[in-house]
Amino acid sequence: MIIGIDDTDSRAGMCTTYLCAVLVDELNQREYGDVSTPCLVRLNPCIPFKTRGNGAVSFEIRIATGKEEEVKELVKARVRELSEVHDEDTNPGVVFIDDSALRAMFRGDSDEKNECMLKLKTFYETTVRDVLAIEDAYALISELHFDSFGLKNERGLIGALAAASFWVVQKREPTFYDFTYELMAYREKERWGTARFIDEASVWKADEATYPFTWDTVDLGNKKLALAPHSPCPVLFGIRGGSVDALYKAYKLIQAEPAEREMVFVTNQGTDFHLITREEAEGTLHDYHSYILEGVVDSEPRTIEGGHVVFALSLSEQILGCIECIAYEPTKGFRDYIRKLRVGDEVTVYGSFKKGTINLEKIALRKLNVEVKRNPICDKCGKSMESAGRGQGYRCKRCKTYRSEKEVQIVDREIEEGLYEVPPVARRHIAKPLIRVQMEGGINHLHPSR
Ligand code: ATP
Repeated sequence: MIIGIDDTDSRAGMCTTYLCAVLVDELNQREYGDVSTPCLVRLNPCIPFKTRGNGAVSFEIRIATGKEEEVKELVKARVRELSEVHDEDTNPGVVFIDDSALRAMFRGDSDEKNECMLKLKTFYETTVRDVLAIEDAYALISELHFDSFGLKNERGLIGALAAASFWVVQKREPTFYDFTYELMAYREKERWGTARFIDEASVWKADEATYPFTWDTVDLGNKKLALAPHSPCPVLFGIRGGSVDALYKAYKLIQAEPAEREMVFVTNQGTDFHLITREEAEGTLHDYHSYILEGVVDSEPRTIEGGHVVFALSLSEQILGCIECIAYEPTKGFRDYIRKLRVGDEVTVYGSFKKGTINLEKIALRKLNVEVKRNPICDKCGKSMESAGRGQGYRCKRCKTYRSEKEVQIVDREIEEGLYEVPPVARRHIAKPLIRVQMEGGINHLHPSR
């Protein structure tokens, strides 16, 4: 059986990954059957009703026949008990894909099988890139005969079904989607809401010993730890990386308050799966969606109140028009690159879109504008010529020389072409760090924040 869960936490406490870790441990202890490594999917990062990182979880359990209902009751009981249901915005949802439904999906003739798979795949992908209604989740749950459980307005069913769908697709083809890992350590209950004790020096050592197989544990440029949340939730810290061995190596090196438990998750974090390309956007941009867009810088960057840096971007080809791009103050040193842009630079921007503005996560400087036009210099006296009137060229008053066009001068730029990113302290969970791109090879001119 595959179980997907979402929307159990609030800003004041809990975390759906913690509930998942508790359940996985309990199900293992009770020996209902093998429980898989759980999975944590990050869904659309722009969804207004998210608590923090818009995460949802799923896992698979191979249950001995006859115990399915017992397992479901246990899951429902833990969700009822641990969810922050008193919070207005917490609306838990659980989706159960029974073995019979799974078998039917995997057994059917290939057309039917592919159709079910395609529906789940589309649902997961839409939940990461688009905005859905609860009715979309109800419709697919009923069509594919899945069992489900929800509390209050049950909005969590959207994320729960998306997380379960990710699992099913990866089960059929384990490398269909790019994935990474996160090892989460959880706090003892008595400490929830108090300041976390994590020995800073040990974290820097752990990072040094495992980077780049782990990433975003620290933010080197900003000299800050990046592994621990600042909320009162049960998470002590999370170590992100591409290898489980490296996660455990780092974990063993970190000295901190005792963890109640830890759990490794397979995750879509660090994959950029939320980004919609220009071709996929089909000519229109929508609020609460994230894009990769090409264009030309259309205004000199300026720093506005709050330290945010903005510039206008004139979009190219399929999507026409002008949008604003913004590097928010928390992106720190990334803003220095944005300040160095000039009108005429050809760039590709990556980020989420709302009210005509892209919130920058990455930027590729494809072609820097190195030309400056200035009034021509007189060949005789070496002085700058003056305009002879609108559209009438340039003249040197003294020598009476004439030139029809401005002169083009090549200037040095203080920035190189290539791909730039926000630092770890400002990175979205789902955004792909450039160090991952670098390790994959193939792209030149990367400027990882480290
Ligand atoms: P945490 O990361 O701490 O677990 P969260 O940020 O994941 O919290 P949730 O409490 O899970 O936030 O709230 C997100 C809500 O948005 C859930 O009910 C989920 O089902 C729903 N949701 C997620 N993605 C979409 C989407 N694309 N369209 C509509 N609803 C969505």
